[in-house]
Formats: sequence, structure tokens, C-alpha cells
Amino acid sequence: MTARMGPRIGHGYDLHRLEPVAPEGDGRPFILAGVTFEHRMGPVGHSDGDAVYHAVTDAVLGALGHQDIGQLFPDTDPRHEGADSRVFVEAAAQRMRDAGFAIGNLDITVICEQPKLSPAKPQMIANVAERLGCGVDRVNLKGKTHERVDAVGEGRAVEVHAVVLLEPAHEGSRRPDTPGS
Ligand SMILES: [Zn+2]
Repeated sequence: MTARMGPRIGHGYDLHRLEPVAPEGDGRPFILAGVTFEHRMGPVGHSDGDAVYHAVTDAVLGALGHQDIGQLFPDTDPRHEGADSRVFVEAAAQRMRDAGFAIGNLDITVICEQPKLSPAKPQMIANVAERLGCGVDRVNLKGKTHERVDAVGEGRAVEVHAVVLLEPAHEGSRRPDTPGS
């Protein structure tokens, strides 16, 4: 990449089916942005099913024009079984720094009927900011319901959209471990 590169935008989307949490069903504990919610239902997935971290990972990878999360971390790989999804976000953040970019800002929309996200929002934002190595003022997160229609509205799925703007990193903020970037 040249020093004259401009900002880059990326979009990430993820959806996980929700099932009753084990032992009642196949659902894992309901984790969003690294926060575990007390809820009867939880995501079915190969990793821990953190739909916020997955959407954020794909937004950053998309902005970089890299392969997506499913290609980089295939769910056929037993190493990712039950994985803490922070490793995916952190891997995307490393790729971002290696390419000479930093987070401009990030806007996340979580769509689910339950549980209520508002009490956990500050922690969710802090977790995403920490994973990406940026300030909390650069991360926005909002919750919406799906008005009780379709699978999401019936509480059978959780859906997340994330949009990110990457800015060229200032020379001074480059990590010393990325020579020539
Ligand atoms: Zn996912």
C-alpha cells in the first residue's frame, strides 16, 4: 500500500440460530461482543457463536479486501470448535495494522427480541474497542428488535450488522513489528 491510500469502508453481517441452552438444547451460552447474557436461548455455532465479534471481523476484513471469516477460519477446523471469537477480531485487527490502517469509526446494529442489551452496552463497546485497539469513542452499538416477525422477531435468531471505516494510520502510530507497511 502506498502512503497516499485513502479511507476504506467495510460491512459485516452475521446471523446465528438460537436454540435452548444446553442441556435443554444445542444452544451455547448467549455471548455478544464478549459479554455473556443470562438467557434461556443461545446461539448454535462452531465457535462460541458471538455474532457481534463475527460481524465486526468481517467488516474489517471486507474493508481490507481480504477473505472473509468463513474462509480464514473454516468451521471444519477443529481448532475453532467452541473458540473464543475474540481471536477472530484480533486477527482482523492485526491484518488492519499490517496493511497500515487504523479504525476511523465503527457502527454496530444488533437485532434480537431478547435479552435487553442496554445494560451491557458500555461493556460490549469497551470489549470491541479493546479487541481493535481503538478508543471507545470510535465504537457505536445499538440494539433493535425485529417487531416480533420472522425468525429474529420470534426469538429464533440473532442478527448483527457492522459498518467500519478504516483510516490510513499515522506514521507515529505504526507498530514497530510491521516494517515497510
Ligand atoms: Zn457467526
